Amino acid sequence: MTKTVTKIVLASGNPGKLRELKALLDQSLSHISFSLAPEGFDPQETGSTFGENALIKARAAAQLTGCISLADDSGICVSALNGAPGIRSARYAPGTDADRRIKLLEALADVPDDKRQAYFACALAVVDGEGKLLYAGESHWHGKIAKSEAGANGFGYDSIFIPDSLDETSAQIDPETKNRMSHRGMAFAELKKHLLLSL
Ligand code: IMP
Repeated sequence: MTKTVTKIVLASGNPGKLRELKALLDQSLSHISFSLAPEGFDPQETGSTFGENALIKARAAAQLTGCISLADDSGICVSALNGAPGIRSARYAPGTDADRRIKLLEALADVPDDKRQAYFACALAVVDGEGKLLYAGESHWHGKIAKSEAGANGFGYDSIFIPDSLDETSAQIDPETKNRMSHRGMAFAELKKHLLLSL
């Protein structure tokens, strides 16, 4: 018997995100075909939590396409800064990722080693073609902010984040290892279990 293929739209216009999604979810979901939201897709992220923003993006993609839609929202939360940059991680400082890392290191310049706790968060939301919530989940990757940058892998805040179980930054570990341990890896592993059970 042939299994019906379910189409899921990724609420993003970024082909890199689609590649990453396919790698994270792998072939065990061959009955699902993933595609990107139409070009120019850029909804306003007006939520006050990662979960709200993921839901806003998923619903916006469903409204445009009429298809089941999946969105993620992620960022880094630093205890000594009361959770900042949080949902504003991508906009914490104007300019590049490097500018944002410098701002964060400067904000923590006087913060001692034992008070530099932080975590990455990744929220996922899946809605049906009418925008009804089918799945919501959020995973955290705990660690601390380094005193200076190290490592060339990854992106964003990776070169200043030291995961709890390691002595090096998440930009110093190989991408496969990061995918297994990270907030995004954990969030997608949970989603995969759900998709395998429900679709
Ligand atoms: P968004 O989820 O695309 O809105 O972006 C979240 C922002 O959080 C990114 O621009 C990065 O700066 C940061 N971020 C999220 N996940 C990671 C990660 O795995 N490593 C480094 N930075 C991350």
